[in-house]
Amino acid sequence: MKSRRRPYAEQRPQDLGGGVWSVPVPIPGSPLGYTLVYALESPKGPVLVDSGWNHPDAWDALSGGLATLGIDVSTVSGVVVTHFHPDHAGLAGQVKDVSGGWIAMHEADAALVRLMHDYAADEHESFQSDMLRRAGADPGEARQAVSRPIPPALPDRRLRDGDLVDLPGRKLRAVHTPGHTPGHICLHLEDADRLFTGDHVLPDITPHVGIYPYDRDDVDPLGDFLDSLDRVAELGPLDALPAHEWIFPDVAARAAEIRHHHDEKLVRLRALLAQRPAPLTIWEVAAMMTWNRPWGDLPPALKGMAAGEAAAHLRTLEARGEIRRVPGVDPVRFQALDS
Ligand SMILES: [Zn+2]
Repeated sequence: MKSRRRPYAEQRPQDLGGGVWSVPVPIPGSPLGYTLVYALESPKGPVLVDSGWNHPDAWDALSGGLATLGIDVSTVSGVVVTHFHPDHAGLAGQVKDVSGGWIAMHEADAALVRLMHDYAADEHESFQSDMLRRAGADPGEARQAVSRPIPPALPDRRLRDGDLVDLPGRKLRAVHTPGHTPGHICLHLEDADRLFTGDHVLPDITPHVGIYPYDRDDVDPLGDFLDSLDRVAELGPLDALPAHEWIFPDVAARAAEIRHHHDEKLVRLRALLAQRPAPLTIWEVAAMMTWNRPWGDLPPALKGMAAGEAAAHLRTLEARGEIRRVPGVDPVRFQALDS
């Protein structure tokens, strides 16, 4: 299928009807191009779904784009973010500053944002380099893969699954869809059969699902993500309003397709481990998996993300009893169990 993705320069703010508008907000330097920020009409002032990357060009696009639709950003009553990532929550603080509105996000992501604010720079770096070492990364690569995220503004309101967002006269319900982040939410506009899907369900690409630190065995983000896809599929063939790419019909069909993609990837990974007699590190597994370019060509930061994704798949196979981690070894190693 030919991609329908168009560059940011070809995107325009749009009136989607039914009191919903979309504004493309550029993500400087990213191949994703832009975040689609949505505005919903409300008697108290519009509510935004996501806000875009924290950058002056992005701010101009957001405030200017809203203005072309007849919305003054200072009248915004609140921003509900689908998850804490910078291309979604980045500008929420600035919108709040000019409008006095609230910021809402799921409580699990709110806890992560709190942690990011509390973490000192050196703590963050030692956490990351330790995690990379335990995954079997080459020390030189590990040094280059370390990065420090800039935390978004803390939310004023914490949402849980099933909560209604403060949007008088309408029903906008939070649907907890963990996986891409622990507190990712989709937002179901129940009176219009529309679902704001954030990064959870996108029409062409699939979101990054990783586990951090890589060797955690107390959570299963990919297992959560697959359950969250089932959850969205159960909502029925709603119109999907995603945060990237383009709007598409029948979210249930696309959710089932993404689930199938990961199920196949898990089968291939299980087979890959079964072919190797010696247990493998997370880094070795990541290097053997298929990525959008050869492993050797990936820059260190992308290798770090790929390792997180490999680790999430390993963890799901472990949780299903198909592979095991070798006890008491550092770096951590995995091997297939006989089926
Ligand atoms: Zn994201």
